[in-house]
Amino acid sequence: MYDPKSSKAVEFIDHGEVLDTLEYARKNSSNAALIDSVLKKARERTGLTHREAMILLDCELEDKNEEIFALARQIKQDFYGNRIVMFAPLYLSNYCVNGCLYCPYHQKNKHIARKKLTQADIVREVTALQDMGHKRLALEAGEDPKMNPLEYILESIKTIYSIKHRNGAIRRVNVNIAATTVEDYSKLREAGIGTYILFQETYHRKSYEELHPTGPKHDYAWHTEAMDRAMEGGIDDVGLGVLFGLELFRYEFAALLMHAEHLEAVHGVGPHTISVPRIRAADDIDPDQFANGISDDQFAKIVACIRIAVPYTGMIVSTRESRECRERVLELGISQISGGSRTSVGGYYEPEVEEEDSRQFEVSDNRSLDDVIKWLIELGHIPSFCTACYREGRTGDRFMALCKSGKILNCCHPNALMTLKEYLMDYASAPTAELGNALIETEINQVPNNKIRALVAEHLVAIQRGDRDFRL
Ligand code: SF4
Ligand code: SF4
Repeated sequence: MYDPKSSKAVEFIDHGEVLDTLEYARKNSSNAALIDSVLKKARERTGLTHREAMILLDCELEDKNEEIFALARQIKQDFYGNRIVMFAPLYLSNYCVNGCLYCPYHQKNKHIARKKLTQADIVREVTALQDMGHKRLALEAGEDPKMNPLEYILESIKTIYSIKHRNGAIRRVNVNIAATTVEDYSKLREAGIGTYILFQETYHRKSYEELHPTGPKHDYAWHTEAMDRAMEGGIDDVGLGVLFGLELFRYEFAALLMHAEHLEAVHGVGPHTISVPRIRAADDIDPDQFANGISDDQFAKIVACIRIAVPYTGMIVSTRESRECRERVLELGISQISGGSRTSVGGYYEPEVEEEDSRQFEVSDNRSLDDVIKWLIELGHIPSFCTACYREGRTGDRFMALCKSGKILNCCHPNALMTLKEYLMDYASAPTAELGNALIETEINQVPNNKIRALVAEHLVAIQRGDRDFRL
């Protein structure tokens, strides 16, 4: 029985409710009056239920679809402006005891090179990431209690935060590790993590169990209820995501929003971010073996509808997507992207060689971080290395309250300009620096509050002089 407040996965992601939602939306895919009423509610910018959002996703009326895309663009602009927050993944270890059929790190894959970073390796990797200009990382590790116990993850986080190289520092470490206990989540919180990210892969229980035939991840309830345990353990910011291509995207879309509603209903705060990865080729993995791949058009529609349904939730797209695809979805709702990513263990210090390939997936966007920054600026976006909220204690419901009041915008834009300035001073190529400085000069005039504008101008001069790490 569907119950968003239930603690049981099969009740807050009730299969019957997902199917009813899909049926309801399918029947109404050309119901102009209903679509109009959902759009009217969406324009209030307070979000939509999964059923309402599904109506928009399934809409088959061309003129209404144009309205949907226009509204997604507008909400993106109103809530996130032209800022894009940058991050990079850091793979600690690809040892894994699970049997996920879509991932090359599955235990039975004997031809992939298995690697685990030592603390000394981490220093080299993080130094290389700092030399690129990154300030925000997403840690990735396979599930292996012997090779990658929680103590190893905690020690690695401590090492990462301790590395100060030239003007570099990693200021926010987000963590993407396997579902674990409330006690372990408390330890992660104490270690100062930013967001805890765990992709659901698929919400369809039967498919989930087939795709995860062995290992602890086989347990659907344990995995799906992980965010509740994380929040119980004191982690305020959690990041959801599904791997599009494993199951039918309509099912995933409805269930993903039901999961967000569940977190809001039980913990009073929805997900901090939603990621939208699509399955990619990798060692031992052919994406064509999964019959549910989605086209770029469907992908764009999903991004637009998520943006409308959960306006306050950040949305992330990685280098799995090509430059062209990323360009399209940036304006529809994406607020964070990775750049210059390596998806192998140790790949920042030493680029992968074929015979020792440990990549989790093939990257579609292979450009350097500097190229990505330049490209964003040329498109009119402000690349931001901001990590201020987490460091100022603006997390969980405090963060959401600020978002909902619109006050967070007074911080995001100035912080984007100041962190971009740091990047331009310390890491950018001459053409990127020239473009970026011109952008900052124009954008500073967009800070509406006189006092804040003057303060930011002061800080920009100080950054030019060599000072670092200003934030609002
Ligand atoms: Fe292991 Fe995660 Fe890959 Fe599954 S998806 S095999 S849990 S690393
Ligand atoms: Fe993100 Fe907060 Fe920085 Fe805005 S001020 S970009 S919400 S960390």
